[in-house]
Amino acid sequence: MSTTTTIQEFIDSGDKLRVYCHASHCNHHAELDMLMLRDKLGPDHGAMHDDLVPKLKCSKCGGKKVGLIRSPGTKEYRRPMHSPRDR
Ligand SMILES: [Zn+2]
Repeated sequence: MSTTTTIQEFIDSGDKLRVYCHASHCNHHAELDMLMLRDKLGPDHGAMHDDLVPKLKCSKCGGKKVGLIRSPGTKEYRRPMHSPRDR
């Protein structure tokens, strides 16, 4: 049995993934758009650190040294993305 989480499973879990840039002059961080990644990589692509980091780069400085931090979402409070009232 595999422990790999796919992008689709990640979306279904309601969790969030944030990307951090490791460049010391940059420190950019942003929430990763999993729906965009699903469109790009496919729903069965792995959503683990090693699966995603090679596909990502910092949108600010273009650096490839990025880190991922998964934070639990709360399904009860999950709202549609791009909601104008989203805080
Ligand atoms: Zn950066």
